[in-house]
Amino acid sequence: MSSKLEALKAAFAAKTTSSSNDDSWKKFYPFWKMQENNQAVVRFLPDLDEDNPLGFLVENHVHELNINGQRTTVACGKMYGESCPICELSKKYYDEKNEELGKKYYRKLSYIGQIIVIESPIEHDAEQIVKLIDFGPKIFKLIQSAFQSGDLEVEPYSLIGGYNFRIKKTKSGQYADYGTSSFAPKQTNVDEDLIDRLELMDLKEQRRKQVPRAELEAMLNADLTGASIPVASAQSTPASTPVEPTVATSTPVATPTTEAAPTPTAATSEAPTSSGSSALAALRARAKAAKTAGGDAE
Ligand SMILES: [Zn+2]
Repeated sequence: MSSKLEALKAAFAAKTTSSSNDDSWKKFYPFWKMQENNQAVVRFLPDLDEDNPLGFLVENHVHELNINGQRTTVACGKMYGESCPICELSKKYYDEKNEELGKKYYRKLSYIGQIIVIESPIEHDAEQIVKLIDFGPKIFKLIQSAFQSGDLEVEPYSLIGGYNFRIKKTKSGQYADYGTSSFAPKQTNVDEDLIDRLELMDLKEQRRKQVPRAELEAMLNADLTGASIPVASAQSTPASTPVEPTVATSTPVATPTTEAAPTPTAATSEAPTSSGSSALAALRARAKAAKTAGGDAE
């Protein structure tokens, strides 16, 4: 009986560990692996979901928990319009003026987009043309201010006449800093043969997967008590993913902003749907039309 239990425990433990065999994180371009003072050039692509108000980015809210000895990120319940026990715990700590634990359990915001890698100082799977990218609020703010600057003539993710984005890595104290990243000033076109091969993703499907509240509670309990549980919905992050340390600034209690580490989203290895491919066909047609309408993008 107990040996059966031991076997089960081992099987569950193995299952959790092997979740890093899940290749979903490979869809992400690991720009954070580049050396300091290097830059990667990427091109944002439009979301397959044309109703996305941000056009080419989606917000991803996660919590970081320590489950079975592994750092695990789980979707914040509120991201899917549900209540979230982890947010509730964070709030409780903040109410008790325990900033450290309040911040630890506070949800972390990142943005997910899809890109073509134009220039890369690091190795990446060139076979996979469209990759995902996940970055924190700092890079988002740079993008936001580019929109406000009036320097962009068209949406930066336009296939024709859009703008590449240069991710520059510098160092601020002991932490990586991407604060000098920017859109390239020159408008460019995505190569036509690449456009024909693009398989765009629905970005909201690439966010961390929804977890029922009961399961979130069990995972939170495991974090708090150290009890081991089988984890299906959560994903351990690959060991290669560095933890971008939380910046120890004196953020106001009301809005503790913690730069999320780049983390892979939950597995969604769905092929583009048929409705998706018609949206893509429309995009391609638009790109072609824009191209033939005149080279004003040059
Ligand atoms: Zn939450």
